[in-house]
Amino acid sequence: MAYPTLPLVSDPQTAPEHPSRLDVVPPPDEGAPRGPTISPSRAGDFMTCPLLYRFRVIDRLPEPPSPAAARGTLVHAVLERLFDRPAAERTPQFARSLAGPEWDRLVAESPELAALFTGEPDREAWTAEVTAMIDRYFTMEDPRRIEPAERELYVETTLETGLRLRGYVDRLDVASGGAVRIVDYKTGTAPRAEFEARALFQMKFYALVLWRIRGAVPRLLQLMYLGNGEVLRYQPDEADLRATERKILALWRAIERAQESGDWRPRPSRVCDWCAHKPICPAFGGTPPPLPEARPAGAGRARRAADDAGPTRLPAGGADPARPAADDAGSPRRATEAGDPSRPADAAGPARLAADGGPARPAAADAGPG
Ligand code: SF4
Repeated sequence: MAYPTLPLVSDPQTAPEHPSRLDVVPPPDEGAPRGPTISPSRAGDFMTCPLLYRFRVIDRLPEPPSPAAARGTLVHAVLERLFDRPAAERTPQFARSLAGPEWDRLVAESPELAALFTGEPDREAWTAEVTAMIDRYFTMEDPRRIEPAERELYVETTLETGLRLRGYVDRLDVASGGAVRIVDYKTGTAPRAEFEARALFQMKFYALVLWRIRGAVPRLLQLMYLGNGEVLRYQPDEADLRATERKILALWRAIERAQESGDWRPRPSRVCDWCAHKPICPAFGGTPPPLPEARPAGAGRARRAADDAGPTRLPAGGADPARPAADDAGSPRRATEAGDPSRPADAAGPARLAADGGPARPAAADAGPG
């Protein structure tokens, strides 16, 4: 099946006064000179385990597809395509019907996915998980009331230091007054409270990039955990995003120090259970390959598959055990709760946000990586 081109779903009722599409952001250019670059996924890798970052960014070791990663990719694809249809047609039945063709497309692009399952029972169980996540999405919000301004949006900015920040935003909603909501789907379960800050780091990273591009702080960050139906919402402010920038720069200095010293030490955690590099990890008796020469730190490819859709979704099956970051430590503006279809606020699209006073009021609802 041919992959449909990405039409923008734009609702005149909610169209922002400024351009909804971030045309100022150039598309990734594989041929352009690469400066120091970091994405939230790779930043998360370094925070989780410096050696994991090395294996992925410096060594660029291949990682075999996993059912969890494939599930995340498929669910994201279904939720992206769902908004191609007119609002009234965005039903659970239609969303489920997308899974087959989208899976066929993914297998056509990556034939190794076809060998992912050990047998038909294995495949059926996986398919049931995908279906359950799609159905759960509809208990968390009503897509008939939402007209995303953007889906799978590539964003990029360069800080004064020359460090380039980039990533892909799952969905961007823009209210009639221009307030922006960044939405990210996670196919795992919501993290425990002590790890929420880590989950929000990725969203603050995106918010920082959008703030730099548009000059306005996004009003709401929304992480939707399709594994258990919880939503994490957070209202960032300028101080948050300045702190996030400081954190990213400090992280980058740490990466540069590791690059200079060659000290990419392992940091064992629950993530090791999903790590494709465990057999060569010294924490488990393995021996890493020699470091490649003259690989610029952070010079990853500007591809969604490399930055966000692949290995990063591996640990999405549960709460991230990585350490919460000091800069992101708890805030009274965050709150979590189970998704509840009976609560109109959870189902509200951008227009509802504006009508409610939206993100300007304390984030009384919701729930986080995928
Ligand atoms: S197995 Fe664990 S400690 Fe080793 S590289 Fe992977 S995540 Fe890091």
